[in-house]
Amino acid sequence: MQLANPNLLKTQNYINGEWRDGASTLEVRDPANGDLLAQVADGSAADTEAAVAAASAAFPAWKSKTAGERAAVLKRWYQLIMDNVDDLARILTLEQGKPLAEAKGEIAYGASFIEWFAEECRRAYGQTIPTHNPAMRLSTIRQPVGVVTCITPWNFPNAMITRKAAPALAAGCTVVIKPAVETPLSALALCQLAEEAGLPAGTINMVVGSDAPAIGKVLTEDDRVAKFTFTGSTAVGKLLMAQCASGVKKMSMELGGNAPFIVFDDADLDTAVASCIATKMRNAGQTCVSTNRIYVHEAVHDAFVAKLRTAIEALQVGHGCDDSVSVGPLIHRRAADRVQGLVQDAVEAGASVELGGEYLPHGENYFAPTLITGVNDGMRIAQEEIFGPLAPVQKFTDEDDVIRRANATPYGLAAYVMSENIRRANRVVEALEYGMVACNTGVFSTAVAPFGGCKESGIGREGGVEGMAEFYETKYCCFGA
Ligand code: ADP
Repeated sequence: MQLANPNLLKTQNYINGEWRDGASTLEVRDPANGDLLAQVADGSAADTEAAVAAASAAFPAWKSKTAGERAAVLKRWYQLIMDNVDDLARILTLEQGKPLAEAKGEIAYGASFIEWFAEECRRAYGQTIPTHNPAMRLSTIRQPVGVVTCITPWNFPNAMITRKAAPALAAGCTVVIKPAVETPLSALALCQLAEEAGLPAGTINMVVGSDAPAIGKVLTEDDRVAKFTFTGSTAVGKLLMAQCASGVKKMSMELGGNAPFIVFDDADLDTAVASCIATKMRNAGQTCVSTNRIYVHEAVHDAFVAKLRTAIEALQVGHGCDDSVSVGPLIHRRAADRVQGLVQDAVEAGASVELGGEYLPHGENYFAPTLITGVNDGMRIAQEEIFGPLAPVQKFTDEDDVIRRANATPYGLAAYVMSENIRRANRVVEALEYGMVACNTGVFSTAVAPFGGCKESGIGREGGVEGMAEFYETKYCCFGA
């Protein structure tokens, strides 16, 4: 792999400030063509225990630093990431598949969490509370929760780490991270830069490993762990929540979604189509806030579908390192097969493939950007998280009915509303049972705002003031006067 800064290609686990081999290795491959990129240490439960021990030992000194001292180190980390954005984006595209421009966007987005939380940790104010008893003085202070463990997915190999590690470290916690086996190189490069920035040994630790259940057990059950944070599927999230329960660990869960995208007859159709493409085709549809169900008012259905078709036809599919490419491969063949299965199920149930609907000859993980009409809520495509470049359109006629249909899912992560009518937009945004609702835009995630879901989409928030609060314990202090 050609990098301007070859130091960024790390293949060992990072534990207690040391780069360590595993008992064996695992392969990292380019999902676009199967090329072998690197062999990475395959960490074990014992490695994870060593990482937790290191984080636990490093905690007292790190939490004792002033917020300003921690902020200074984190800002150096931020700057080093931005200085190396081209290399980091290249690593990300090669192991994950997304186009280089998107990868650069993710690196800057990921780094923005470090900068923002470095600033925010200076404002960990407590309160003095008007007393209920003249002989007592009451106050609160906010203290870091302790050792934080994280499991992160492959779809945002950089940002899903910084979104958890930055607020944890800023608050004074120490961290152990298990990145996805598909994309460990982006994760390990972050540790290299954290080390260069001056994060003390043991404050940030990383264990890559193929035995996720064994590693996950340590991360959720070790007595020294105070909080566990996870981004991934709802099914795995539930299992990990049950494991956390045994030790009453604090937890944050960013789980699956089934995002509705509602286009009213008063929408600006060009805005609606551009927003739909942004949420549906970014990262080839492999994001938890990707549009999953597109509901279009019958009066504008045909016009919207025609414009969406033109926009999808304009997408260039190929290797993410090619500048002209806007949609890359899926992460692996299993993902492409799942998408194919959803198309087949929809067609058998009466839906029509308007565009795409098939594997592409570019490589075995490629699936064509696809437009399907005639979808209904009973189809698997409307009930399961698609995680692919598949746009399924259905019609509606009535506002209350579409709100009911949009809410009729166990998920509650993101929803989208397209309308130029401010009263309707307000009404619908408030009625949708989702943690995040975007109106007249398809891109909304930022370090300054709380990201997260309700219902089976998760617990807790990442980003914003709320994202910082997740890593503090509020201590009530009562002094007899
Ligand atoms: P995906 O496989 O699409 O990334 P998952 O929710 O299945 O989504 O997995 C998310 C992350 O959780 C992955 O990095 C995976 O290694 C990890 N994981 C999967 N199963 C377990 C488990 N039983 N215990 C701990 N971690 C797990």
